[in-house]
Amino acid sequence: MQLKEDWPLLAACRTGDPDALFVEGAAQHIAKRVCFGCPVQYECLAEALDYRIEPGVWGGMTERERRILLRENPDIADWRRLFLATPATLHGVHPRVAVAHVLELRSARARASRRWADARPASPLGHSPASEEVASSSAPAR
Ligand code: SF4
Repeated sequence: MQLKEDWPLLAACRTGDPDALFVEGAAQHIAKRVCFGCPVQYECLAEALDYRIEPGVWGGMTERERRILLRENPDIADWRRLFLATPATLHGVHPRVAVAHVLELRSARARASRRWADARPASPLGHSPASEEVASSSAPAR
Protein backbone atom coordinates (compact mmCIF):
# COMPACT_ATOMS: atom_id res chain seq x y z
CA MET A 1 0.00 0.00 0.00
CA GLN A 2 1.25 3.49 -0.77
CA LEU A 3 1.14 6.23 1.83
CA LYS A 4 0.96 9.88 0.93
CA GLU A 5 3.42 12.40 2.35
CA ASP A 6 1.06 15.35 2.03
CA TRP A 7 -1.75 13.50 3.77
CA PRO A 8 -3.05 16.41 5.93
CA LEU A 9 -4.10 18.18 2.73
CA LEU A 10 -6.32 15.23 1.84
CA ALA A 11 -7.85 14.66 5.27
CA ALA A 12 -11.61 14.32 5.37
CA CYS A 13 -11.61 16.39 8.58
CA ARG A 14 -9.55 19.30 7.21
CA THR A 15 -12.51 21.62 6.76
CA GLY A 16 -14.28 20.75 10.00
CA ASP A 17 -13.79 22.02 13.52
CA PRO A 18 -10.41 20.66 14.67
CA ASP A 19 -11.65 20.51 18.27
CA ALA A 20 -14.36 18.04 17.22
CA LEU A 21 -11.73 15.27 17.10
CA PHE A 22 -10.29 16.10 20.50
CA VAL A 23 -13.30 15.26 22.59
CA GLU A 24 -12.98 12.76 25.42
CA GLY A 25 -14.34 9.35 26.34
CA ALA A 26 -17.33 7.89 24.51
CA ALA A 27 -17.76 11.07 22.46
CA GLN A 28 -14.73 9.91 20.45
CA HIS A 29 -16.81 7.06 19.03
CA ILE A 30 -19.13 9.62 17.48
CA ALA A 31 -16.29 11.92 16.45
CA LYS A 32 -14.47 9.17 14.60
CA ARG A 33 -17.33 8.74 12.13
CA VAL A 34 -15.70 11.44 10.01
CA CYS A 35 -12.74 9.05 9.50
CA PHE A 36 -14.72 6.33 7.77
CA GLY A 37 -14.00 6.82 4.10
CA CYS A 38 -11.17 9.27 4.77
CA PRO A 39 -8.56 8.64 2.04
CA VAL A 40 -5.62 9.05 4.41
CA GLN A 41 -6.73 6.97 7.36
CA TYR A 42 -3.55 4.86 7.46
CA GLU A 43 -1.25 7.87 7.17
CA CYS A 44 -3.08 9.58 10.02
CA LEU A 45 -3.05 6.49 12.23
CA ALA A 46 0.65 5.83 11.56
CA GLU A 47 1.46 9.39 12.63
CA ALA A 48 -0.36 8.95 15.93
CA LEU A 49 1.09 5.51 16.66
CA ASP A 50 4.68 6.29 15.63
CA TYR A 51 4.77 9.52 17.62
CA ARG A 52 2.71 8.14 20.50
CA ILE A 53 0.17 10.93 20.19
CA GLU A 54 -2.40 10.30 22.88
CA PRO A 55 -5.26 12.78 22.79
CA GLY A 56 -8.05 12.67 20.26
CA VAL A 57 -9.21 10.58 17.34
CA TRP A 58 -6.61 9.62 14.76
CA GLY A 59 -7.04 7.27 11.83
CA GLY A 60 -10.52 6.29 12.91
CA MET A 61 -9.37 5.08 16.31
CA THR A 62 -10.01 6.51 19.74
CA GLU A 63 -7.27 7.11 22.31
CA ARG A 64 -8.23 3.91 24.09
CA GLU A 65 -8.24 1.80 20.92
CA ARG A 66 -4.77 3.06 19.98
CA ARG A 67 -3.45 2.43 23.48
CA ILE A 68 -4.67 -1.18 23.27
CA LEU A 69 -3.12 -1.60 19.83
CA LEU A 70 0.23 -0.31 21.10
CA ARG A 71 0.08 -2.46 24.22
CA GLU A 72 -0.74 -5.60 22.23
CA ASN A 73 2.07 -4.97 19.73
CA PRO A 74 5.05 -3.66 21.67
CA ASP A 75 7.51 -4.99 19.08
CA ILE A 76 6.22 -2.74 16.30
CA ALA A 77 8.42 0.34 16.30
CA ASP A 78 7.49 1.65 12.86
CA TRP A 79 3.77 1.57 12.09
CA ARG A 80 4.20 3.52 8.90
CA ARG A 81 6.48 0.80 7.59
CA LEU A 82 3.97 -1.85 8.65
CA PHE A 83 1.21 -0.09 6.73
CA LEU A 84 3.48 0.26 3.69
CA ALA A 85 3.78 -3.54 3.76
CA THR A 86 0.02 -3.95 4.00
CA PRO A 87 -1.47 -5.38 0.81
CA ALA A 88 -3.27 -2.75 -1.26
CA THR A 89 -6.32 -5.02 -1.26
CA LEU A 90 -6.83 -4.05 2.39
CA HIS A 91 -7.16 -0.37 1.56
CA GLY A 92 -10.49 0.85 2.83
CA VAL A 93 -10.64 -1.86 5.47
CA HIS A 94 -10.60 -0.58 9.05
CA PRO A 95 -6.94 -0.25 10.11
CA ARG A 96 -7.51 -2.51 13.12
CA VAL A 97 -8.62 -5.32 10.82
CA ALA A 98 -5.75 -4.64 8.43
CA VAL A 99 -3.24 -4.67 11.30
CA ALA A 100 -4.57 -8.05 12.50
CA HIS A 101 -4.25 -9.40 8.96
CA VAL A 102 -0.70 -8.11 8.52
CA LEU A 103 0.41 -9.46 11.90
CA GLU A 104 -1.06 -12.86 11.03
CA LEU A 105 0.77 -12.83 7.69
CA ARG A 106 3.99 -11.92 9.48
CA SER A 107 3.73 -14.74 12.00
CA ALA A 108 2.76 -17.22 9.25
CA ARG A 109 5.93 -16.23 7.36
CA ALA A 110 8.00 -16.65 10.53
CA ARG A 111 6.50 -20.11 11.14
CA ALA A 112 7.18 -21.14 7.53
CA SER A 113 10.73 -19.91 7.78
CA ARG A 114 11.29 -21.85 11.03
CA ARG A 115 9.83 -25.00 9.43
CA TRP A 116 12.12 -24.54 6.44
CA ALA A 117 15.16 -24.13 8.69
CA ASP A 118 14.22 -27.24 10.71
CA ALA A 119 13.75 -29.29 7.54
CA ARG A 120 17.13 -28.39 6.04
CA PRO A 121 19.42 -31.40 5.88
CA ALA A 122 22.57 -31.34 7.96
CA SER A 123 25.59 -30.14 6.02
CA PRO A 124 28.33 -32.63 5.11
CA LEU A 125 30.56 -30.90 7.68
CA GLY A 126 28.25 -32.01 10.43
CA HIS A 127 26.56 -28.65 10.97
CA SER A 128 22.86 -28.81 11.56
CA PRO A 129 20.56 -25.77 11.42
CA ALA A 130 20.20 -26.05 15.19
CA SER A 131 23.94 -26.05 15.80
CA GLU A 132 24.35 -23.06 13.43
CA GLU A 133 21.74 -21.21 15.40
CA VAL A 134 23.56 -21.95 18.67
CA ALA A 135 26.87 -20.95 17.10
CA SER A 136 25.53 -17.66 15.76
CA SER A 137 23.73 -16.78 18.97
CA SER A 138 26.86 -17.42 21.05
CA ALA A 139 29.10 -15.41 18.71
CA PRO A 140 30.49 -12.31 20.37
CA ALA A 141 28.78 -9.06 19.44
CA ARG A 142 30.81 -6.75 17.24
S1 SF4 B 1 -8.49 9.58 9.60
FE1 SF4 B 1 -9.93 10.93 10.67
S2 SF4 B 1 -8.67 12.21 11.97
FE2 SF4 B 1 -7.34 11.29 10.47
S3 SF4 B 1 -7.21 12.73 8.78
FE3 SF4 B 1 -8.85 11.33 8.28
S4 SF4 B 1 -10.71 12.24 9.06
FE4 SF4 B 1 -9.00 13.31 10.03
